[in-house]
Amino acid sequence: MVVLGSTGSIGVNTLEIAKRFGLKIEALVAGNNYKLLNRQIEIFKPRFVGVKDKKTAEKVNFDKVYVGTEGIVEILNRSKSKLVVNALVGEAGLIPTVTAQNLGKKIALANKESLVIAGKFIDTSKITPIDSEHFGLWYLLGNKKNFNRLFITASGGALRDWPVEKIKNAKLEDVLKHPNWSMGVKITIDSATMVNKLFELLEAKWLFDTSDIDAFIETKSIIHALVEWNDGSTTAHISKTDMKLPIAFALLGETKEKILEPVNLLEIGSLEFKKIDPKRYPVWEIKESLLKNPDMGIVINTANEEAIRKFLDKKIGFLDISRQILEAFKEFEGVKINDLDEIFEVKKEVLRFLNGI
Ligand code: NDP
Repeated sequence: MVVLGSTGSIGVNTLEIAKRFGLKIEALVAGNNYKLLNRQIEIFKPRFVGVKDKKTAEKVNFDKVYVGTEGIVEILNRSKSKLVVNALVGEAGLIPTVTAQNLGKKIALANKESLVIAGKFIDTSKITPIDSEHFGLWYLLGNKKNFNRLFITASGGALRDWPVEKIKNAKLEDVLKHPNWSMGVKITIDSATMVNKLFELLEAKWLFDTSDIDAFIETKSIIHALVEWNDGSTTAHISKTDMKLPIAFALLGETKEKILEPVNLLEIGSLEFKKIDPKRYPVWEIKESLLKNPDMGIVINTANEEAIRKFLDKKIGFLDISRQILEAFKEFEGVKINDLDEIFEVKKEVLRFLNGI
């Protein structure tokens, strides 16, 4: 298989599962972490290797190193693998998803931004999501359609217990202290703003073809998803906070082997559920409008990635991330996207708007 984003949080877990089950790795693609990539090359001996830029490529111990999105596209075209794991972060994952799809490959998709930005142009029948909530929904639903409503849970992120008036002062190191999950930097910030859950609602909409989907906070992240059935019963998916379970299913299909230790509910003792409050998570205000017009996905994603970039550069505060998303949402409300090219045009317009050009 091809692993895009092999040096990231999902990528590393993917390679662990691949090693355990003896799966062959045909290609490894990373961003800038050449040290880890060099170790992975030694262990997995891939046929193709790619990185983000030329400077990094020079430090990689491999004969021919492909570079950038073009390099990923070339690797995908040359590879014989039927399965591509897309664990890239952000919009950088979109062209690889579309390319893999056009080549008829199956995609194990961690890069939820692909669906957020371009869900209506992606054939979800060829996709297995690597996301605990969607894995949970898939596990609960099987082929059944007689549900009333789907729910996914949120942890609430690093600032969920902060007094609301102090949140504006949160620094990067505060935002990165996720209470339950160990993940990459961007998704950890997205958890604190609740953008991640907005994205996951859109992801669920495309994957399960429904807008009857909502989210609430479960503070221990033990329950990942729930299905409320027509008959009035509700079933819940419970597992430890470890991505190896969804990854194993995405790579192997149904597996009888133990991937994780089961949750000991007696040790857990009690669970706590909370509403997602827009006072703490301002982006939650646009949830319904976004589900009604998912074409707005590119607007929110662009505003989010641009604001996170500025937050990481210490140019804006934490709450400015949500503010910029809401401003862009208001400005572009009602946008319609007719093809993939328009996505990139809207992206340019959103960046122009945000940067006052
Ligand atoms: P990380 O930041 O840990 O990893 C991202 C990976 O992508 C790294 O290997 C990074 O390389 C690589 N990368 C980034 N930009 C480029 C680029 N332009 N070209 C090539 N490679 C690039 O992220 P996560 O693993 O946390 O998340 C990956 C995706 O999975 C995200 O979309 C996230 O939302 C989703 N996801 C993550 C979960 C988690 O538990 N982490 C759970 C569910 C979904 P390098 O590090 O070498 O620079």
